Amino acid sequence: MRVEGQTTEMESCCTVKPGTAVSPTDCPHCGRPGRLVDRITVKAMLRPEGLMRLSAPEHRFCATPECSVVYFGIEEAFGREEVVVPVFQKEPAGDRPVCYCFGIGEADLRRELEETGRSSASDRIIALVKAERCACEVKNPQGNCCLGNVAAAANAAKVTLEAEKR
Ligand SMILES: [Zn+2]
Repeated sequence: MRVEGQTTEMESCCTVKPGTAVSPTDCPHCGRPGRLVDRITVKAMLRPEGLMRLSAPEHRFCATPECSVVYFGIEEAFGREEVVVPVFQKEPAGDRPVCYCFGIGEADLRRELEETGRSSASDRIIALVKAERCACEVKNPQGNCCLGNVAAAANAAKVTLEAEKR
């Protein structure tokens, strides 16, 4: 809540002064643009050592598969080894976690396709999201919904299975 006339002093100690430093939009390692993530995502995802040096006011997520950086901000970057879970975008395909909230991995997608011929994972996740049971901002390193990754991973698993049948 803002109280007019009383905010100036409080703001000077609690907010970052504009113009002092600008948060980078591109990853310092691979140079590709990153997506802004909530601070709570970075806090939830970092191991203690990384969390203890967290200082930048905002962070972006680097989704480049071959880049080791996961989060970056002003004068800091956190790598894969500093994150508590394997990062979907940065692990080799085949056995990665895809939906972090409800524990669905590539192996689960493949098993269901083998057994039933179709993937119901997206539908199940959509129902759980609608019931407001997801916690992407604190469970998924990318800080948002996994559905795009689930669809892509299910399609990739389908292509692999079909190729194996030939
Ligand atoms: Zn990068």
